[in-house]
Amino acid sequence: KLSNAAVIDVENVSAGKNTAKELVENTRKAFRSQRTLSYSFRREQLRNLLRFFDNEAEAICEALYKDLKKPKAESMAGEICMVRREVAGALSNLKSWMEPEEVKKTVANFFDDLYVYNDPYGVVLVIGAWNYPVQVCMIPVVGAIAAGNCVIIKPSEVASATAQTLATLLPKYLDPEFYPVFLGGIEETADLLKNRFDYIFYTGSTEVGKIIHQAASKYLTPITLELGGKSPVYIDNTANLKIAAKRILWGKVQNSGQICVGPDYILCTKEVQKELIPHMEKALEEFFDGNIKTNEDYGRIVSQKHFNRLANMLKNQKAAIGGKSDESDLFVEPTVLIDVKPEDHVMQEEVFGPIISIINVKDENEAIEFINDREKPLALYIFTNSSKVKKMFLERTSSGGVLINDTVMHLIADGLPFGGVGHSGMGSYHGKKTFDTFVHKKSVLSKSFNLIAEKIESLKYPPYTKFKSGS
Ligand code: NAD
Repeated sequence: KLSNAAVIDVENVSAGKNTAKELVENTRKAFRSQRTLSYSFRREQLRNLLRFFDNEAEAICEALYKDLKKPKAESMAGEICMVRREVAGALSNLKSWMEPEEVKKTVANFFDDLYVYNDPYGVVLVIGAWNYPVQVCMIPVVGAIAAGNCVIIKPSEVASATAQTLATLLPKYLDPEFYPVFLGGIEETADLLKNRFDYIFYTGSTEVGKIIHQAASKYLTPITLELGGKSPVYIDNTANLKIAAKRILWGKVQNSGQICVGPDYILCTKEVQKELIPHMEKALEEFFDGNIKTNEDYGRIVSQKHFNRLANMLKNQKAAIGGKSDESDLFVEPTVLIDVKPEDHVMQEEVFGPIISIINVKDENEAIEFINDREKPLALYIFTNSSKVKKMFLERTSSGGVLINDTVMHLIADGLPFGGVGHSGMGSYHGKKTFDTFVHKKSVLSKSFNLIAEKIESLKYPPYTKFKSGS
């Protein structure tokens, strides 16, 4: 448990010495020193970040294991390597990303220069969630550093071991004057949010997203909200059900289903369900060698509160696969529920755990209606070989992203921005889009004192003769 008001100013990891207000003021002073602006400084900090992940990988994996029993392979692939990849991409492209973007001229600006200047916002606040507590905090930080900002990093208090590890170790690599880590829970974060920031990047639930939106509106602070929701799967009889079963469950068992783009429920016909379930059973058997409880490749639920939430979802439901849980170990078995009705508890909120429901629909039209009757999802998964069905879903539904014939993989596809829409979020990031998120695209028109240009442009000055007004 973190102590109350555990504000980390990092030069002083003993915590509690700075108030949130002081921390923001100091960080603003640091930004005004202009040191974060140069190419060399940004580059040096990004390199330091790479060293952080190389040198401290063991400590990070241990913390993630403490918080979530996250298997090391998942910590390496889904947390450390994902951020490393972003840093490496930023380092190779930093120079070109920083360059002003030239704008194509027309004859009206023949004598002028027109460009878009990538202006850092200033002091950025990054607030992260607990499920991928390293990745969701640190990928935005990569973009914010590359863009020349100062960043206050606020990891989730729910993944407390990871938050402490970041607060203790990051300052050894990233200059804490410019990139301090702030530790705290709801109360401390609320206090932090009373301050003025130049950009807020939030990852977490839709409910808290609304609170962040409201806090930001006081100063008209631009924000990105990376939120969650129920991501549906549609699967039809043209899909390879054996492969589909594996891919759906892979997206469901990672981090014990505590993943923002986890497939939340499946829409399919009764016939598809009948064929799909044996394939799902087989896939789980293969993944975990028939004994998931003792298998090190399967993690645990983050807290008692979230365990209880999931246990409640299992009540009065029919499990075709799994259904067991163990409170003493915060273990919830991968579970496939059938005969689920839209009004059941499990369908009222994001599952965010290893439970997936199957809801029967008669065809793709009914599935589309079902999706459109609900909030816009973060991800939509379609399993089909039919081009017509793919097109129907793309045209007739709205979601943060769409992945055809797999789950989760769009999150790591190079070049694809990642983000939600409506209740699943606003804004997107990853790769160049992360850099672009943290710069104001400042339009610049630069004119000279060229006398010919002045002569032509003198038409704009009064007196407005008949000729000048076109009559
Ligand atoms: P959480 O409890 O860790 O909260 C997220 C952050 O918000 C934390 O840093 C916390 O301190 C802060 N916070 C919580 N309540 C607050 C309040 N009242 N005022 C101010 N700050 C507050 O995480 P969570 O919200 O349980 O996260 C899970 C949600 O995050 C899920 O809905 C999941 O889908 C979503 N998520 C989205 C993404 C994405 O990239 N879109 C990634 C991961 C998780």
